[in-house]
Amino acid sequence: MVRAAPKTHHGFTLQHKTLLDRALDSLPLALLQHGRARPEGWDSEAFCTNLHNAYHGVHLGETFPLCEAQIGSIIRAFERGEVKDGLQSRIAKVLKQHIPNDFPELFARRWRALELDNAAIHDFTSIEQGTLSLELKHKFSKLPSQLPMFILRTWSNGWLTTFRMHEANAMPCVFGCDEEVDSLHHYLRCEALWALVYTCTNSNNSSLLQQSIEERCCIRNISPPNLMRLYSASATYHSLRKLHAELLENAVSSGDFTLFMRLLCST
Ligand SMILES: [Zn+2]
Repeated sequence: MVRAAPKTHHGFTLQHKTLLDRALDSLPLALLQHGRARPEGWDSEAFCTNLHNAYHGVHLGETFPLCEAQIGSIIRAFERGEVKDGLQSRIAKVLKQHIPNDFPELFARRWRALELDNAAIHDFTSIEQGTLSLELKHKFSKLPSQLPMFILRTWSNGWLTTFRMHEANAMPCVFGCDEEVDSLHHYLRCEALWALVYTCTNSNNSSLLQQSIEERCCIRNISPPNLMRLYSASATYHSLRKLHAELLENAVSSGDFTLFMRLLCST
């Protein structure tokens, strides 16, 4: 919109001013506001008003208060013919620098709910390390394309467990642990699941078996092998819920997970 206003569209300011006049003529006194170009009954601003606002940086001041002047100066330079190409990329670059990165705060909240170590959470999300998204871009770029979504889903406590979904018949641990519930909080600690993961990913080094929950969760020692193992844990859980629902239901109701675990070990 900010690029289109100076470059693509014309005449929107005149249209916007016409609308302002119409709004002044038609609106009851109680609804009159400075700059309101929306006659009564309209749900939102007209396209010409949005273009007018974008051109003058009206909403930039509310959404991106620190880049209003920069954007305005790029648009004026374009109008003077000093920006021949790359107008959109220049504007996007300025906006991108001012988009708040909410990921560190969001993940930190979710990780605390999963009772992960506070020091590890602080180290992983600390400002000194740069933004979380930049850290991840480098690490995720070398991995299979579907993996980042699984990892982000884990970090945001997004496994589709019956505990999280508040289902009426919340299940116990689907890997057969006594008195444990079907929740991500447990699965990060579930030795039955992680024994499967280590076996299936040929992670036979005995030191790996001593990995902390934070390492399993990849907020400490984030590395391609650790990311792959977390992906395996998530994929194992979700596949068995989806593909073997009936067998799982029988195991849960009978309390006998022997057949079920045999199936998991064979796949
Ligand atoms: Zn378990």
